[in-house]
Amino acid sequence: MIIKMQTVATPDEIAAIEARVHALGYTTGKMVGAQVTLIGVYGDISRLPTDELGQMPGVERLIPISRAYKRAAQKGDPLKPIHVPVDIGGVLAGGSDLVVIAGPCSVESERQVMDAARMVKEAGAQCLRGGVVKYRSSPYSGWEGLGSSDHDSLRRSLELIVRAGREFGMPTVVEILDQADVSLYEDAGVACLQVGEPNSKNQALLNRLRDTTLPVIHKRGNSLDTEAYLLWVERVMTAGKENVILCERGITSCNRYTRNTLDLGSVAAFHYQLSGLPVAVDASHGTGIRDLVFPLTLAGIMAGASVVLVEAHPNPLIAKSDGMQGLFPEQLQGLVRAAREAWLARARTDREYVPTVALQRTYEARMQADRARFFGED
Ligand code: PEP
Ligand code: MN
Repeated sequence: MIIKMQTVATPDEIAAIEARVHALGYTTGKMVGAQVTLIGVYGDISRLPTDELGQMPGVERLIPISRAYKRAAQKGDPLKPIHVPVDIGGVLAGGSDLVVIAGPCSVESERQVMDAARMVKEAGAQCLRGGVVKYRSSPYSGWEGLGSSDHDSLRRSLELIVRAGREFGMPTVVEILDQADVSLYEDAGVACLQVGEPNSKNQALLNRLRDTTLPVIHKRGNSLDTEAYLLWVERVMTAGKENVILCERGITSCNRYTRNTLDLGSVAAFHYQLSGLPVAVDASHGTGIRDLVFPLTLAGIMAGASVVLVEAHPNPLIAKSDGMQGLFPEQLQGLVRAAREAWLARARTDREYVPTVALQRTYEARMQADRARFFGED
Protein backbone atom coordinates (compact mmCIF):
# COMPACT_ATOMS: atom_id res chain seq x y z
CA MET A 1 0.00 0.00 0.00
CA ILE A 2 1.19 3.49 -0.73
CA ILE A 3 -0.22 6.48 1.15
CA LYS A 4 -0.08 9.49 -1.13
CA MET A 5 0.04 12.77 0.80
CA GLN A 6 -1.48 16.00 -0.46
CA THR A 7 0.95 18.50 -1.98
CA VAL A 8 0.14 20.82 0.94
CA ALA A 9 0.60 18.16 3.65
CA THR A 10 2.70 19.44 6.55
CA PRO A 11 5.69 17.58 8.05
CA ASP A 12 3.58 17.05 11.21
CA GLU A 13 0.80 15.44 9.22
CA ILE A 14 3.29 13.17 7.49
CA ALA A 15 4.88 12.25 10.83
CA ALA A 16 1.45 11.52 12.32
CA ILE A 17 0.67 9.06 9.52
CA GLU A 18 3.99 7.31 9.97
CA ALA A 19 3.50 7.11 13.74
CA ARG A 20 -0.01 5.62 13.33
CA VAL A 21 1.17 3.05 10.80
CA HIS A 22 4.11 2.08 13.01
CA ALA A 23 1.79 1.76 16.01
CA LEU A 24 -0.24 -0.70 13.95
CA GLY A 25 2.88 -2.83 13.60
CA TYR A 26 3.92 -1.99 10.03
CA THR A 27 7.20 -0.68 8.71
CA THR A 28 7.24 2.22 6.27
CA GLY A 29 9.48 3.74 3.65
CA LYS A 30 9.12 7.37 2.72
CA MET A 31 9.62 8.71 -0.79
CA VAL A 32 9.85 12.48 -0.81
CA GLY A 33 9.51 14.01 -4.25
CA ALA A 34 9.49 17.61 -5.40
CA GLN A 35 5.68 17.59 -5.48
CA VAL A 36 4.43 14.72 -3.38
CA THR A 37 5.43 12.59 -0.44
CA LEU A 38 4.56 8.92 -0.66
CA ILE A 39 4.64 6.59 2.32
CA GLY A 40 5.08 2.93 1.43
CA VAL A 41 3.54 0.55 3.96
CA TYR A 42 5.17 -2.87 4.16
CA GLY A 43 3.62 -6.01 5.56
CA ASP A 44 0.25 -7.75 5.41
CA ILE A 45 -1.93 -4.83 4.40
CA SER A 46 -5.16 -6.86 4.53
CA ARG A 47 -5.66 -5.74 8.17
CA LEU A 48 -4.77 -2.09 7.54
CA PRO A 49 -7.57 0.32 8.66
CA THR A 50 -7.73 2.02 5.28
CA ASP A 51 -10.81 4.13 6.09
CA GLU A 52 -9.17 5.60 9.15
CA LEU A 53 -5.89 6.31 7.37
CA GLY A 54 -7.64 7.75 4.33
CA GLN A 55 -9.36 10.32 6.53
CA MET A 56 -6.30 11.49 8.41
CA PRO A 57 -5.22 15.09 7.76
CA GLY A 58 -2.93 15.59 4.79
CA VAL A 59 -3.73 12.27 3.09
CA GLU A 60 -4.71 12.50 -0.55
CA ARG A 61 -5.44 8.82 -1.06
CA LEU A 62 -4.32 5.26 -0.53
CA ILE A 63 -2.92 3.43 -3.53
CA PRO A 64 -2.97 -0.35 -3.27
CA ILE A 65 0.17 -1.81 -4.80
CA SER A 66 0.07 -5.50 -5.22
CA ARG A 67 3.34 -5.58 -7.08
CA ALA A 68 6.32 -6.91 -5.21
CA TYR A 69 8.42 -3.88 -6.16
CA LYS A 70 7.40 -0.49 -4.86
CA ARG A 71 10.11 2.08 -5.34
CA ALA A 72 10.72 1.10 -8.96
CA ALA A 73 6.95 1.11 -9.55
CA GLN A 74 4.84 3.77 -11.22
CA LYS A 75 3.52 5.84 -8.33
CA GLY A 76 1.02 8.06 -10.08
CA ASP A 77 -2.23 6.89 -11.53
CA PRO A 78 -2.85 5.93 -15.16
CA LEU A 79 -4.30 9.36 -15.94
CA LYS A 80 -1.45 11.18 -14.23
CA PRO A 81 1.66 9.02 -14.25
CA ILE A 82 4.71 10.29 -12.39
CA HIS A 83 8.01 10.07 -14.25
CA VAL A 84 11.00 11.22 -12.25
CA PRO A 85 14.05 12.39 -14.22
CA VAL A 86 17.56 11.26 -13.30
CA ASP A 87 20.54 13.60 -13.40
CA ILE A 88 23.63 12.21 -15.15
CA GLY A 89 26.36 14.74 -14.38
CA GLY A 90 24.14 17.68 -15.37
CA VAL A 91 22.31 15.90 -18.21
CA LEU A 92 18.70 15.11 -17.31
CA ALA A 93 17.53 11.65 -18.36
CA GLY A 94 13.77 11.23 -18.56
CA GLY A 95 13.24 15.00 -18.79
CA SER A 96 12.06 17.06 -21.71
CA ASP A 97 14.98 16.13 -23.99
CA LEU A 98 16.00 12.77 -25.33
CA VAL A 99 19.36 11.73 -23.86
CA VAL A 100 21.83 9.92 -26.09
CA ILE A 101 24.70 8.05 -24.43
CA ALA A 102 27.16 6.97 -27.12
CA GLY A 103 30.67 5.65 -27.39
CA PRO A 104 32.75 2.58 -28.02
CA CYS A 105 32.12 -0.78 -26.42
CA SER A 106 35.57 -0.54 -24.82
CA VAL A 107 38.11 2.11 -23.99
CA GLU A 108 41.09 0.85 -26.01
CA SER A 109 43.73 3.56 -25.83
CA GLU A 110 44.13 7.22 -24.94
CA ARG A 111 43.97 8.25 -28.61
CA GLN A 112 40.99 6.02 -29.38
CA VAL A 113 38.88 7.29 -26.50
CA MET A 114 39.74 10.92 -27.28
CA ASP A 115 38.74 10.44 -30.94
CA ALA A 116 35.62 8.60 -29.81
CA ALA A 117 34.66 11.48 -27.50
CA ARG A 118 35.07 13.97 -30.35
CA MET A 119 32.94 11.76 -32.60
CA VAL A 120 30.21 11.49 -29.94
CA LYS A 121 30.21 15.23 -29.30
CA GLU A 122 30.12 16.07 -33.01
CA ALA A 123 27.19 13.72 -33.50
CA GLY A 124 25.21 15.66 -30.89
CA ALA A 125 25.02 13.02 -28.15
CA GLN A 126 25.16 14.31 -24.55
CA CYS A 127 27.04 11.53 -22.70
CA LEU A 128 30.09 9.41 -23.44
CA ARG A 129 30.09 5.68 -22.75
CA GLY A 130 32.88 3.12 -22.76
CA GLY A 131 33.78 0.00 -20.81
CA VAL A 132 37.15 -0.35 -19.10
CA VAL A 133 36.69 -3.94 -17.93
CA LYS A 134 34.75 -6.20 -20.28
CA TYR A 135 32.80 -9.34 -19.63
CA ARG A 136 33.75 -11.85 -22.31
CA SER A 137 31.81 -15.00 -22.98
CA SER A 138 35.00 -16.82 -23.95
CA PRO A 139 38.09 -16.89 -21.71
CA TYR A 140 40.16 -17.04 -24.95
CA SER A 141 38.88 -13.79 -26.45
CA GLY A 142 42.19 -12.11 -25.58
CA TRP A 143 40.67 -8.75 -24.64
CA GLU A 144 39.08 -8.02 -21.30
CA GLY A 145 39.50 -4.27 -21.29
CA LEU A 146 42.26 -1.75 -20.76
CA GLY A 147 41.55 -1.68 -17.04
CA SER A 148 41.35 -5.42 -16.50
CA SER A 149 44.89 -6.30 -15.39
CA ASP A 150 45.01 -4.71 -11.94
CA HIS A 151 43.76 -1.92 -9.73
CA ASP A 152 46.16 0.59 -11.25
CA SER A 153 45.18 -0.18 -14.84
CA LEU A 154 41.54 0.21 -13.84
CA ARG A 155 42.18 3.61 -12.26
CA ARG A 156 44.19 4.81 -15.27
CA SER A 157 41.55 3.65 -17.74
CA LEU A 158 38.77 5.37 -15.81
CA GLU A 159 40.82 8.54 -15.82
CA LEU A 160 41.27 8.29 -19.61
CA ILE A 161 37.56 8.17 -20.36
CA VAL A 162 36.69 10.81 -17.77
CA ARG A 163 39.34 13.12 -19.23
CA ALA A 164 38.07 12.51 -22.76
CA GLY A 165 34.52 13.27 -21.63
CA ARG A 166 35.58 16.45 -19.87
CA GLU A 167 37.60 17.59 -22.87
CA PHE A 168 34.33 17.67 -24.82
CA GLY A 169 32.02 18.65 -21.96
CA MET A 170 30.31 15.28 -21.55
CA PRO A 171 29.59 13.19 -18.46
CA THR A 172 30.74 9.58 -18.71
CA VAL A 173 28.85 6.33 -18.26
CA VAL A 174 31.03 3.33 -17.40
CA GLU A 175 30.16 -0.25 -16.53
CA ILE A 176 31.18 -1.46 -13.08
CA LEU A 177 31.73 -5.15 -12.40
CA ASP A 178 32.88 -5.32 -8.81
CA GLN A 179 31.40 -3.76 -5.68
CA ALA A 180 34.90 -3.22 -4.32
CA ASP A 181 35.53 -0.66 -7.07
CA VAL A 182 32.68 1.77 -6.42
CA SER A 183 34.81 4.42 -4.72
CA LEU A 184 37.45 4.13 -7.43
CA TYR A 185 34.80 5.02 -10.02
CA GLU A 186 33.50 7.85 -7.85
CA ASP A 187 36.98 9.25 -7.23
CA ALA A 188 37.86 9.07 -10.93
CA GLY A 189 34.88 11.31 -11.72
CA VAL A 190 32.70 8.83 -13.60
CA ALA A 191 29.20 10.37 -13.81
CA CYS A 192 27.04 7.24 -14.04
CA LEU A 193 27.58 3.58 -13.21
CA GLN A 194 26.33 0.97 -15.62
CA VAL A 195 25.32 -2.45 -14.36
CA GLY A 196 25.88 -4.82 -17.26
CA GLU A 197 23.57 -7.61 -18.30
CA PRO A 198 25.65 -10.35 -16.62
CA ASN A 199 25.48 -8.45 -13.32
CA SER A 200 21.77 -7.66 -13.53
CA LYS A 201 21.20 -9.92 -10.52
CA ASN A 202 24.56 -9.62 -8.78
CA GLN A 203 23.26 -9.20 -5.25
CA ALA A 204 26.50 -7.98 -3.67
CA LEU A 205 27.09 -5.35 -6.35
CA LEU A 206 23.50 -4.12 -6.30
CA ASN A 207 23.48 -3.93 -2.50
CA ARG A 208 26.62 -1.84 -2.61
CA LEU A 209 25.16 0.53 -5.20
CA ARG A 210 22.49 1.58 -2.68
CA ASP A 211 25.16 3.75 -1.07
CA THR A 212 26.50 5.65 -4.06
CA THR A 213 25.08 9.04 -4.96
CA LEU A 214 25.97 8.39 -8.62
CA PRO A 215 23.10 7.47 -10.91
CA VAL A 216 22.93 3.83 -11.94
CA ILE A 217 21.84 2.52 -15.31
CA HIS A 218 20.76 -1.04 -14.65
CA LYS A 219 20.60 -3.31 -17.68
CA ARG A 220 17.99 -6.03 -17.79
CA GLY A 221 19.33 -9.57 -17.58
CA ASN A 222 18.59 -11.43 -20.78
CA SER A 223 16.51 -14.06 -19.04
CA LEU A 224 14.73 -11.89 -16.48
CA ASP A 225 11.03 -11.31 -16.91
CA THR A 226 9.80 -7.79 -16.27
CA GLU A 227 8.82 -8.41 -12.66
CA ALA A 228 12.04 -10.25 -11.75
CA TYR A 229 14.07 -7.47 -13.38
CA LEU A 230 12.21 -4.70 -11.56
CA LEU A 231 12.76 -6.56 -8.29
CA TRP A 232 16.52 -6.51 -8.90
CA VAL A 233 16.25 -2.82 -9.72
CA GLU A 234 14.26 -2.35 -6.51
CA ARG A 235 17.18 -3.82 -4.55
CA VAL A 236 19.31 -0.80 -5.46
CA MET A 237 16.51 1.51 -4.31
CA THR A 238 15.45 0.01 -0.98
CA ALA A 239 17.42 2.46 1.17
CA GLY A 240 16.04 5.52 -0.61
CA LYS A 241 18.20 5.76 -3.72
CA GLU A 242 16.07 7.09 -6.56
CA ASN A 243 18.44 7.90 -9.42
CA VAL A 244 18.19 4.67 -11.33
CA ILE A 245 17.58 4.19 -15.06
CA LEU A 246 16.12 1.05 -16.59
CA CYS A 247 17.71 -0.39 -19.72
CA GLU A 248 16.31 -2.85 -22.23
CA ARG A 249 19.20 -4.41 -24.15
CA GLY A 250 17.62 -7.57 -25.51
CA ILE A 251 16.57 -10.89 -24.08
CA THR A 252 17.06 -14.49 -25.09
CA SER A 253 14.47 -15.92 -27.49
CA CYS A 254 14.12 -18.46 -30.28
CA ASN A 255 15.36 -15.85 -32.74
CA ARG A 256 18.91 -16.63 -33.86
CA TYR A 257 19.40 -13.91 -36.44
CA THR A 258 19.98 -11.05 -34.03
CA ARG A 259 22.32 -11.30 -31.05
CA ASN A 260 19.41 -10.81 -28.64
CA THR A 261 15.73 -9.94 -29.02
CA LEU A 262 15.03 -6.33 -28.14
CA ASP A 263 11.88 -6.56 -26.07
CA LEU A 264 10.04 -3.42 -27.09
CA GLY A 265 6.85 -4.63 -25.42
CA SER A 266 8.67 -4.36 -22.11
CA VAL A 267 9.99 -0.89 -22.97
CA ALA A 268 6.37 0.20 -23.43
CA ALA A 269 5.25 -1.63 -20.30
CA PHE A 270 8.00 -0.02 -18.19
CA HIS A 271 7.23 3.48 -19.44
CA TYR A 272 3.45 3.45 -19.83
CA GLN A 273 2.46 1.11 -17.03
CA LEU A 274 4.92 -0.36 -14.60
CA SER A 275 7.56 2.17 -13.60
CA GLY A 276 8.28 5.83 -13.06
CA LEU A 277 11.99 5.44 -13.87
CA PRO A 278 13.48 6.63 -17.16
CA VAL A 279 13.89 3.81 -19.70
CA ALA A 280 16.94 3.43 -21.92
CA VAL A 281 16.97 1.41 -25.10
CA ASP A 282 20.21 -0.27 -26.20
CA ALA A 283 19.70 -1.55 -29.74
CA SER A 284 23.44 -2.22 -30.11
CA HIS A 285 23.42 -5.20 -27.76
CA GLY A 286 19.76 -5.75 -28.57
CA THR A 287 20.56 -6.63 -32.18
CA GLY A 288 24.33 -7.08 -32.45
CA ILE A 289 24.01 -5.93 -36.07
CA ARG A 290 25.22 -2.46 -37.05
CA ASP A 291 22.57 -1.91 -39.69
CA LEU A 292 19.72 -2.78 -37.34
CA VAL A 293 20.72 -0.36 -34.61
CA PHE A 294 19.08 2.56 -36.44
CA PRO A 295 15.55 1.17 -36.89
CA LEU A 296 15.44 -0.51 -33.48
CA THR A 297 16.62 2.59 -31.64
CA LEU A 298 13.85 4.61 -33.26
CA ALA A 299 11.33 1.88 -32.45
CA GLY A 300 12.53 1.93 -28.83
CA ILE A 301 11.94 5.67 -28.59
CA MET A 302 8.44 5.31 -29.99
CA ALA A 303 7.81 2.49 -27.51
CA GLY A 304 8.64 4.69 -24.53
CA ALA A 305 12.39 5.07 -24.12
CA SER A 306 13.74 8.49 -23.14
CA VAL A 307 17.41 7.45 -23.20
CA VAL A 308 19.37 5.89 -26.05
CA LEU A 309 22.46 3.84 -25.32
CA VAL A 310 24.44 3.17 -28.47
CA GLU A 311 27.87 1.85 -29.41
CA ALA A 312 29.94 3.71 -31.99
CA HIS A 313 33.66 3.70 -32.75
CA PRO A 314 35.96 5.98 -34.79
CA ASN A 315 36.62 2.84 -36.84
CA PRO A 316 34.53 -0.13 -35.71
CA LEU A 317 36.37 -2.41 -38.16
CA ILE A 318 39.32 -2.47 -35.76
CA ALA A 319 37.34 -2.34 -32.49
CA LYS A 320 38.63 -4.78 -29.88
CA SER A 321 35.10 -5.73 -28.80
CA ASP A 322 31.62 -5.62 -30.36
CA GLY A 323 32.90 -4.24 -33.69
CA MET A 324 30.00 -5.87 -35.58
CA GLN A 325 27.47 -3.63 -33.88
CA GLY A 326 29.53 -0.44 -33.49
CA LEU A 327 28.31 2.43 -35.67
CA PHE A 328 30.64 4.34 -37.98
CA PRO A 329 30.85 8.06 -37.09
CA GLU A 330 28.56 9.04 -39.99
CA GLN A 331 26.01 6.47 -38.89
CA LEU A 332 26.06 7.87 -35.37
CA GLN A 333 25.40 11.36 -36.70
CA GLY A 334 22.42 10.14 -38.71
CA LEU A 335 21.09 8.13 -35.79
CA VAL A 336 21.24 11.03 -33.32
CA ARG A 337 19.43 13.30 -35.79
CA ALA A 338 16.76 10.70 -36.48
CA ALA A 339 16.42 9.82 -32.78
CA ARG A 340 15.67 13.45 -31.98
CA GLU A 341 13.03 13.46 -34.73
CA ALA A 342 11.47 10.33 -33.25
CA TRP A 343 11.48 11.94 -29.81
CA LEU A 344 9.61 14.99 -31.12
CA ALA A 345 7.20 12.72 -32.94
CA ARG A 346 6.48 10.82 -29.74
CA ALA A 347 5.87 14.02 -27.83
CA ARG A 348 3.15 14.71 -30.40
CA THR A 349 1.73 11.21 -30.72
CA ASP A 350 1.63 10.79 -26.94
CA ARG A 351 -1.06 13.47 -26.89
CA GLU A 352 -3.31 10.98 -28.65
CA TYR A 353 -2.68 8.29 -26.06
CA VAL A 354 -5.84 7.51 -24.10
CA PRO A 355 -5.39 5.05 -21.24
CA THR A 356 -8.24 2.57 -20.84
CA VAL A 357 -9.17 3.83 -17.35
CA ALA A 358 -10.22 7.11 -18.91
CA LEU A 359 -12.97 5.28 -20.81
CA GLN A 360 -13.69 2.26 -18.63
CA ARG A 361 -16.55 3.74 -16.58
CA THR A 362 -18.34 5.21 -19.60
CA TYR A 363 -18.34 1.89 -21.39
CA GLU A 364 -19.21 -0.10 -18.28
CA ALA A 365 -22.29 2.08 -17.89
CA ARG A 366 -23.30 1.24 -21.46
CA MET A 367 -22.77 -2.52 -21.27
CA GLN A 368 -26.40 -3.47 -20.68
CA ALA A 369 -27.74 -1.12 -23.32
CA ASP A 370 -25.12 -2.26 -25.84
CA ARG A 371 -25.81 -5.94 -25.15
CA ALA A 372 -29.46 -5.28 -25.86
CA ARG A 373 -28.63 -3.28 -28.97
CA PHE A 374 -26.04 -5.68 -30.48
CA PHE A 375 -27.27 -9.08 -29.34
CA GLY A 376 -30.91 -8.48 -28.46
CA GLU A 377 -30.21 -9.42 -24.84
CA ASP A 378 -32.11 -7.76 -21.96
C1 PEP B 1 28.15 -2.95 -22.92
O1 PEP B 1 27.34 -2.04 -22.69
O2 PEP B 1 29.22 -2.78 -23.48
C2 PEP B 1 27.76 -4.33 -22.56
C3 PEP B 1 28.67 -5.26 -22.38
O3 PEP B 1 26.44 -4.50 -22.49
P1 PEP B 1 25.59 -5.71 -21.85
O4 PEP B 1 25.97 -5.76 -20.40
O5 PEP B 1 24.19 -5.28 -22.09
O6 PEP B 1 25.92 -6.97 -22.59
MN1 MN C 1 29.51 -3.84 -25.98
